Amino acid sequence: MTRQLIRLRLRDGRLPHDRAVELGFGPGSGQECDGCGTAITARQAMTLRLDTEDWSEIRLHDECFQIWDDERLKAWQPSRESTPVKK
Ligand SMILES: [Zn+2]
Repeated sequence: MTRQLIRLRLRDGRLPHDRAVELGFGPGSGQECDGCGTAITARQAMTLRLDTEDWSEIRLHDECFQIWDDERLKAWQPSRESTPVKK
């Protein structure tokens, strides 16, 4: 579910496709995750990134960051899943 949300945010431009600059890494501060939309608590790992497209800050759970990193790379490649295979 988180993956779908992140994919959606990549598509409508709320998350960058470019590899964002890493600003910091550490425990959360109760602020909203830009990936899944839920708060990042002090018990969770957070990565703070800088979007080089519009210089805005992005906060992500460590877990959401992994998904975003995975999905943004996939987004560049054309999907072949929807192409019907004729025999
Ligand atoms: Zn998250």
